[in-house]
Parts: sequence; structure tokens; C-alpha cells
Amino acid sequence: MEQRAKHFKKRDAILNCVKCTKVHPSADWVFAQLKPEISNLSLGTVYRNLALFKEQGLIVSLGTVKGIERFDGNVDPHVHFICNECGCVLDLESVGIPESLKESIGRENGLVVNNCTLTFNGLCSQCK
Ligand SMILES: [Zn+2]
Ligand SMILES: [Zn+2]
Repeated sequence: MEQRAKHFKKRDAILNCVKCTKVHPSADWVFAQLKPEISNLSLGTVYRNLALFKEQGLIVSLGTVKGIERFDGNVDPHVHFICNECGCVLDLESVGIPESLKESIGRENGLVVNNCTLTFNGLCSQCK
């Protein structure tokens, strides 16, 4: 029972860590944040839990940035900007994905479009 409580504590801490940040963290970032608090945490546990959360739809994967998978705790569709230089990922809150785009793409290609992810690349204000 004790073991079980500990397990849930780790799981919640990992999920909270991704949900409460806008940095679109990697597994390594999450591990570095939580390790001081949870001394017996392993990187493998972080990886396993993130994969599980992704499967359960609690978080989304943004794919890899500079070879490292990045996650987002905000599962509502939104537009991203990724800096090619420093690898930072920003939410472009003012840019929407128009419903009409999904509809026209579906109609023109005979598809049912459920979801659309839109990502811009370039240099962030610090790197440009
Ligand atoms: Zn940058
Ligand atoms: Zn995001």
C-alpha cells in the first residue's frame, strides 16, 4: 500500500510538472526539475510515465526538436513556434487554426480531418 502511494505521488508530480510549465519540456527537463524533490526518481520512470500520459491523452508530444522529444501539457489545439537555434518552443496564442481549413482540406481530398497541428520554425527574439 505504501509502495502504491509512492508510485502515485511520482506519477502526479511528473504530470503536474508538464501541465504547469510553458516550456514544452523534454523528459530530461522534467527529471531535472523533480529529482531534488524525489530523490529516488529515475529517468526511466519519467520516460515511462510521459509515454503513458501521451497514450491517455493527458499530454501531447510535439515530436522531436533537435533530436529530443518535447511534450505539451496543453492538449487544446494551438499553434507553435520552434526556434531552430536554441530549440525553444512558444505558443502562438493569437494565431488560430481555422475550422474552414480543416473542412476544405477534407472536402477537396475526400478525407475526414479530425485534427490539425500547425508549427512555425525560425529564430526566436533572443536568437535572431
Ligand atoms: Zn532561440
Ligand atoms: Zn504548446
